[in-house]
Amino acid sequence: MLTARLRRKISPRVLLGHPWVFANELETVEASATDGDVLRLMTHDGKFVGQGYYNSQSQIRIRLLTRDPKATIDAAYFFDQLERCWSYRKKLGYVENCRLVFGEADGLPQLIIDKFNDYFVLQTLALGIDRWKPALVEALEKIFQPKGIYERNDVPVRGLEGLPLQKGFLSAPFDTRIQIRENGLSFHVDLDQGQKTGYFLDQQDNRRAIQHIVREAEVLGAFTYTGTFEVHAAHYGARSVLGLDISASAVEMANANAALNGLSDRCRFEVANAFDVLKSWGKEGKSYDVVMLDPPAFTKSRETIQKAITGYKEINLRGMKLVRPGGFLVTSSCTNLIQPELFLQIIEMAAKDARRKIRQVTYQTQSADHPIVWGQENTQYLKFLIVQVQ
Ligand code: SAH
Repeated sequence: MLTARLRRKISPRVLLGHPWVFANELETVEASATDGDVLRLMTHDGKFVGQGYYNSQSQIRIRLLTRDPKATIDAAYFFDQLERCWSYRKKLGYVENCRLVFGEADGLPQLIIDKFNDYFVLQTLALGIDRWKPALVEALEKIFQPKGIYERNDVPVRGLEGLPLQKGFLSAPFDTRIQIRENGLSFHVDLDQGQKTGYFLDQQDNRRAIQHIVREAEVLGAFTYTGTFEVHAAHYGARSVLGLDISASAVEMANANAALNGLSDRCRFEVANAFDVLKSWGKEGKSYDVVMLDPPAFTKSRETIQKAITGYKEINLRGMKLVRPGGFLVTSSCTNLIQPELFLQIIEMAAKDARRKIRQVTYQTQSADHPIVWGQENTQYLKFLIVQVQ
């Protein structure tokens, strides 16, 4: 079997369990190894570390799959891993929809599989796992007998691995505009045109957290995408709900989702730039009982993190100013570049600038089907906070 060796002074990171090995951490790689191959990784003095996929085109040269020297990495291995991932989700109570595989957090680096009841969306974001796509599809067919499997590999990070951006059917073609059920509500999901894999499953547990605070409330939601939080708010008894998103197709689907649940009388969506609208409504003295914000990441790289901090601070400040005294702000951040402590500091700064006192109702992370592995800080990325604003 092909091997690679770590440098003598390798950071303890890899030995302590982190699955990534960077280019500058490797002493040697066997000459006959080709990109995408599974290699055995050894320490400088020949002790076994793990097995993982190699790619000379990526700064992350090896991504470890297992620490077991005896594991055989073949189609059966991936079948077993998918079964293991599914039994974990079932154990946590997920039945219809869940992130079945969350990459590194499931020991399957750069593999994402979202399960939307009978439909599956797959992303293979590293060359090493992309090679196993046929085996993964076969395993899904065997375990779930799905109605359809779709590939959403139209993700720019694939470029860093030398992979093309592409999307399409991995099963017989089917209508990619599907419906799912969540918390007793129905939602249209567009697996082909929707953002990411079509739907943000990572907020599914958090959507329930607004249940009590929205009752009888006048609610404003911004960055609503297909309106999931807002439709929940109307369902949980809000008097009126207005949702804003900059994307016309998202707003169209959000209005369709309100209609699908018979909530159009109380819940509507408009196309708007939330930064502009929240600012001018603040100046006009408008106010709401509950303001919900779920903005995008604002940055993808560490170099421009200040841009994200400024964006989060600004939008939370504007949102908070619209909350009536005693009302609530529901706010999220979905980038792993902003650590939880920093996110809470940003909210604190926004409250100070808005001259409002805040009281924490709940602080949560991504839903439990996106496991957080301690010691792998990038597996925790979503922050979800509800505060009462005095
Ligand atoms: N809350 C949603 C996910 C939101 S994703 C859910 O749970 O499904 C972030 C959304 O912000 C995207 O739909 C994007 O179109 C929108 N967006 C980005 N910039 C915006 C802006 N300046 N104003 C309003 N919406 C914006």
